Amino acid sequence: MAEPVLQLEDLTVRFQLKRGQLTAVDGASFTVHRGETFGLVGESGSGKSVTARSVMRLNPSPPSEVVRGRIMFEGENILDKSDSGMRELRGKHVAMVFQEPMSALNPVYTVGAQISDALRTNMGMTKKEAQERVIELLALVGIPSPASRFKNYVHEFSGGMRQRVMLAMALSCDPTFLIADEPTTALDVTIQATILELIRSMIERFNMSLIFITHNLGVVAHTCDTIGVMYASHIVELGSTDEIFANPLHPYTQGLLNSIPRLDTQQKFLTPIKGLVCNMLEPPNGCKFHPRCEQAMDICTQEIPQMKEVAPGHFAACHLHN
Ligand code: SF4
Repeated sequence: MAEPVLQLEDLTVRFQLKRGQLTAVDGASFTVHRGETFGLVGESGSGKSVTARSVMRLNPSPPSEVVRGRIMFEGENILDKSDSGMRELRGKHVAMVFQEPMSALNPVYTVGAQISDALRTNMGMTKKEAQERVIELLALVGIPSPASRFKNYVHEFSGGMRQRVMLAMALSCDPTFLIADEPTTALDVTIQATILELIRSMIERFNMSLIFITHNLGVVAHTCDTIGVMYASHIVELGSTDEIFANPLHPYTQGLLNSIPRLDTQQKFLTPIKGLVCNMLEPPNGCKFHPRCEQAMDICTQEIPQMKEVAPGHFAACHLHN
């Protein structure tokens, strides 16, 4: 296996809000290797984006605070880095594609100016060199007539084209690690497939590692080598995509799989997971999934299940497997 690039060890992130204390990520541990695509899956509010933003140190502090754990990137703890060290890391080594390009791109500057800016700041390019590189990047991500599009503003691009621009910006400084936070959620289905294919081809072409965040297990099936399933701040299942789809261990993962259409099963009807995600300001005791779990036992209401390797490389946090 390739060497580890990113290792989260017991990462715990808490938010101090007016209404109380909220633990958004609780003891998250996983490793992403060079060239690996890792899917972080779960419902909205499960802690996926907070986990990913912690890698870039983009969570607002206050109200957020890392209360425990380490984020090792290429052997160094990101949490120990100075502000200038973080500026060096962002863009040049780790880049992010956000869900909503309209809020990530600046509407008052041309697209070309925004990408050039990153190149001139991080790579020390001249104005002319940056402009040539931006046109190359726009062509690389499939924007037609890139030289003329250089001078366009964000509102002159469609949703799919904006996401291509975001990807061009993310790739501009040759990062080795990409984080894509629900990059296709705001797009219609046919454009989603094109953008996913584009991300996949860029990852392979530049041998990057990827964390792909989504609530859609169907999407990770085609995009990711490994999956971490998150529920209410905990990673509850971790393993290879093939293994998790063939043999899901955690009732939450089983519920997610039963609620998406699959061509490889005879299932006639989709079965949604009953109930709603718990209130994270007042989470239930024990396993946070127990109010929705049809296999819950007495112990589930009292003890938080610990992550356990149930099969080689396949981990689950559930009392059924202890
Ligand atoms: Fe269900 Fe208990 Fe497993 Fe939680 S620990 S998922 S409640 S069986």
